[in-house]
Formats: sequence, C-alpha cells, structure tokens
Amino acid sequence: MRGEILSVGTELLLGSIVDTNAAFLGRELATLGIDTYYVSAVGDNLARLTEAFRRGWQRSEIIVVTGGLGPTEDDLTREAISALLDEPMVVQPELECELRAFFARRNVAMPERNVKQATLIQSARAIPNPVGTAPGWWVDRDGHIIVAMPGVPSEMTRMWTNEVKPRLQAYTGGTVIYSRTLKVVGIGESTVEEMLGELTHSLAPTVATYAKRDGIHVRLTTKARTTTEAEQAIGPMEEQIRSIFGPALYGVDDESLAAATTRLLAERDLKLGIVEVGTAGSVAAELLPALPVHLLNEARVLSVSTGDGAEDLADLARGARQWGQGPSIGMAVRVTVLQQDPPIVGAGVAVDDGDIQRSTGRTYNASWEQARLRVVNDALHLIRGILFAETAPQ
Ligand code: ATP
Ligand code: MG
Repeated sequence: MRGEILSVGTELLLGSIVDTNAAFLGRELATLGIDTYYVSAVGDNLARLTEAFRRGWQRSEIIVVTGGLGPTEDDLTREAISALLDEPMVVQPELECELRAFFARRNVAMPERNVKQATLIQSARAIPNPVGTAPGWWVDRDGHIIVAMPGVPSEMTRMWTNEVKPRLQAYTGGTVIYSRTLKVVGIGESTVEEMLGELTHSLAPTVATYAKRDGIHVRLTTKARTTTEAEQAIGPMEEQIRSIFGPALYGVDDESLAAATTRLLAERDLKLGIVEVGTAGSVAAELLPALPVHLLNEARVLSVSTGDGAEDLADLARGARQWGQGPSIGMAVRVTVLQQDPPIVGAGVAVDDGDIQRSTGRTYNASWEQARLRVVNDALHLIRGILFAETAPQ
C-alpha cells in the first residue's frame, strides 16, 4: 500500500516550525507496512493545497494530512478536500452540538466561524478529538483514504494512536512492521557490531546499528501479522543481545539514558547529590525530568550549580555525598572553555559513593553548548559504572 504525508501550514515553509508531525507519521506508517513515497509541505493556500491533494490522490492510496483544521480563514484543509472530491461541506448537527458543548465547558461563547469545524463531506467520517475543538476527517472513496488530523502535535499523536492507527491496521489487512531499539552506552559502534557478530546478518529479525548522542542503538525489525507475533519473533534475539552487552545495554526504545539511570537509582533507593561547575545545571536538567513523577517532590536528585571552578572535582563529589539528609552518591561535573576558535572544551566528572571513587576527564572539539550536553552522558555513564560495580560478583 502506497502512502504519503502532507503537512499544511505556511509556518513550515518559512522554517518557523520544523515538521515533526511528518517525522512521527513516517515512522508510524512504516510500522504499519505502508510505504511512504512522498512527504510534502504546502502553505495555507486553497489552490496549492487542492493541487497537492490532487497529486497525492493520483499516486497514493493513503494520504495522511496534518494541520489546517482550525477555525480561521487560513485553515483550509477541509475546503481543499471538498474541492478535490467535489463534495460540499455540510454542518453536522451532532458535531455542532459537541463543539458548542466544548466552548460551554470553558465558559466562552463559540465564535460563529468555528462552525466549519463541525462539517463533513459525504465521503468523510469524523474522527473524535477529545483534547481539541476540531475532529479529524476519515475520507474513504474510490479505493483511496485521506486522513486529516489537527496540526498541534499533542492532539495529532493522540488521535493517531487512539483512532487512526487501529483503523488503518484493519484497512491494510494487518501486517505490522515492528522494531525494538536496544541502547548501548560506553562502547563504540564498530565494537558493538563486532560483538554482535553473525547477528548483524540476520534476516528475520533484521539487526541494524546507529550511533546516536546517547549511545549506540541496536534496532531489531521484523514483519508479522500482529504486534504480539512480532514481539515473540524478536524476543529470543533480544535475550541473546542482552547477554552479549550486559549492563552496557541500558534501555529499550524511548527510554533515555537519564531515565534508565534514575530508574536504577530509584529501584535501589539511592539519592544523588550533584555539584555542577560551568554547565548551567545541564546534568540535573536532564535527570530531573526523567524522574518518575511520584519521586519528583522527594528531591532524590539534589543539585547545585556554581561558577567557581577552582576546587578539586573529587573533593566536590565527596562533599555532595555529605549534604543534608545524606545522598548516597555524590557527583561533581565541570565544563571549562579552553579555547574559543576553533572551540575546545574540557569536561570532567567525579563520582563518589563512599566506597568507590571514579573520575573521567576529556576534551571535546565542540562548543560549550554542545559540550555541556555531552558531559551529561559521561556523568551518567560513570554513575552506571558505580551502580554495577556494587552488584558485580567479587
Ligand atoms: P488549530 O486548531 O490550532 O489552528 P490546525 O489543525 O489548524 O489547528 P495548524 O493551525 O496548521 O493546525 O497548526 C497549529 C500549530 O500546530 C502550529 O502553529 C504549530 O505549532 C503546530 N504544527 C502544525 N503543523 C505542524 C507540523 N507539521 N509539525 C509540527 N508542528 C506543527
Ligand atoms: Mg490553524
């Protein structure tokens, strides 16, 4: 099945926003086994938008469009679909009721122009949107599907996951392409490939490696009839890869290194004290949002950011371990700009859990902005080293 993605909005053409919707949908269509041949962006202009739909209609069975479903005059997605199919937009009383109720719940009068959000054409069904005003459109005619969703990413992804994806799955006859990403830290990409050995030639599932900011991603992909079947097909190979990499494999899919590390700290009921010098609090800023929400208020991560870089990092780490109620692990991180042009930045980390002290130091050929983010990885890696050293058999 051929699919294409159409993103609507002049903002996209001017580069004011980046098309994250298309990136998301490209990944998702692939998991449904739908081949995406075109991704286009088009401004808020009825003639050009209709033209984009016409081209899409000729060459693809499925067009997924986001944006332009708002109430204003430059929201023209419905109008363009209506023009393409030559079917008039008609206000649907039950949709209008829902729309008015949405405004009533917020105690504001509904601007009359919003009523166009309650329209459909004959070939369209409304796709519920409980978090916004505009429902989406599911258009089904002559062997083609158009799915129109709001531009706001949170509304779009919700509608996609809850409403659209299941319907498309049924429509495509249920082949799924399923991937799982296993993330490895502290080992270079070529070594990872070497350690994977014969697995890299496997055809089902396929195995591919990618170097990313948070380590090496090992992606297993398989095709199956259902997600459950795909998971079963991937399971044994995942086990094998887990045993190859041990604690260097820190997480799966969307789990970040920060989230994986805070999960470990929480599981072991450990507290972390951090002193940051010259990082603008980057390490804490990465760790805190990754904490499970129920732990946020317990200040499981205590942090200070200071501008004074003279002290010994190991001393700062030892100091951080002795704060307040006593964090279990103390850490100190420092980033120092050594040269401006070309940029060279020094980065150091020291970690102390009372028994074990570890530190790293390195230079980055990178700007301060970049280096302060990379040092986060160094810091997290070092913490994991300590956490696993503790549990390793003697
Ligand atoms: P609204 O009812 O808010 O007008 P809409 O469906 O008309 O929704 P747009 O007006 O096109 O959507 O976009 C609303 C906002 O959603 C944009 O200002 C932008 O912030 C975000 N957005 C729209 N399209 C995209 C996209 N392709 N990628 C990322 N963000 C997007
Ligand atoms: Mg809009």
